[in-house]
Amino acid sequence: MAFRNTARRLAARVPPAASAAPVSYPASTVAQSTRAYAAVGVETPAWTKSTLPPIPPAATSKPEPKPNNAAAKTNPTLRAAVAATAPRNDWTREQIAAIYHEPLMELVHQASTIHRRFHDPAEVQLCTLMNIKTGGCTEDCKYCAQSTRYQKGTGLQAKKVESVESVLAAARVARENGSTRFCMGAAWRDMRGRKNSLQNVAAMVRGVRELGMEACVTLGMIDAAQAQELKTAGLTAYNHNVDTSREFYPSVISTRTYDERLQTLGHVRDAGINVCSGGILGLGEETTDRVGLLHTVSTLPAHPESFPVNALVPIPGTPLGDREPLAFTEMLRTVATARLLMPATIIRIAAGRKTMSEEKQALCFMAGANAIFTGDKMLTTECNGYDEDKDMFARWGLEPMKSFQKSPKPEA
Ligand code: SF4
Repeated sequence: MAFRNTARRLAARVPPAASAAPVSYPASTVAQSTRAYAAVGVETPAWTKSTLPPIPPAATSKPEPKPNNAAAKTNPTLRAAVAATAPRNDWTREQIAAIYHEPLMELVHQASTIHRRFHDPAEVQLCTLMNIKTGGCTEDCKYCAQSTRYQKGTGLQAKKVESVESVLAAARVARENGSTRFCMGAAWRDMRGRKNSLQNVAAMVRGVRELGMEACVTLGMIDAAQAQELKTAGLTAYNHNVDTSREFYPSVISTRTYDERLQTLGHVRDAGINVCSGGILGLGEETTDRVGLLHTVSTLPAHPESFPVNALVPIPGTPLGDREPLAFTEMLRTVATARLLMPATIIRIAAGRKTMSEEKQALCFMAGANAIFTGDKMLTTECNGYDEDKDMFARWGLEPMKSFQKSPKPEA
């Protein structure tokens, strides 16, 4: 239905095509115009940069141009979203769907407009994500190589927790390569009975902070006291994804509930740690589930400071190992809609970026994404390397975001 509405709106905007016969040009005309182009290429044009009249200074009294486009006029929800000067968290699913289903170019344009109000569009945060404890997880997340349940198929061997020294050595390499946030992931269901492990992680967090970097961890479910301990160590952000919509979630994970995930996010928020929570696209969900995911995060009492958008990386041996990749346009719609719903949040292109062309990534940046994971690995999957990302930034005029620019330093 939503698609039909979109198609109707598009049809109303596009004038009917003239029913002329296709034009074919004689070979001589084509040859002539080719020569004409070649000639322009070698001649010195009559106008050069130095002979152009100077650009007059902008009149300071001129009012700001008002957005003037058909979509913003015909879609009141989009119009309100684009006009926002502060985040709001009273979105309905219907409103989110109305934004999500806007014609894509219009959606990207509007997301780009609001992105510029809340962020410097040239700045993209560089983060590096290290697995500090690989494999051996008791959970049954169907997309994950680290679950013991799929170990036979994936062949992934569980490893011991990394030492503090090896983690800090990796953080130093990340910092030298421009990363300002260092994220540490452990394949655990929760932190119950892991007192020593938590102290170890706290030492890693302190070490990363001493390097002047933002520190983030993802350790599964945590309670209020554990969140407080991490806060005391100086943790900047805690990642705990809700993954998908509440309705689709049980098709992907059965060993912990959606509400348990939200509880952990509550403990993180209450401890004064920034919340990083996003989703995975391409799990077999419907569009309504992507809308549902966006609804969950954008209606939390406060928006997550970070919203990672992952595209499933199908890992052979896991139940989702042979899933077809999701259409890029759905990824782009999700990024753009998230930007409009949560204008102040950092939107992170996470897993799956390795398979995206540079042009697709640029479209995501245009639509409001402003963080990436960089480095050799992202947990167990390949990541775009440091040099590859440096080259991309140079080509597209992007700059790494400075530490703590968008994430206030936790109080000492
Ligand atoms: S909890 Fe994390 S590590 Fe464990 S199976 Fe799920 S995604 Fe993988």
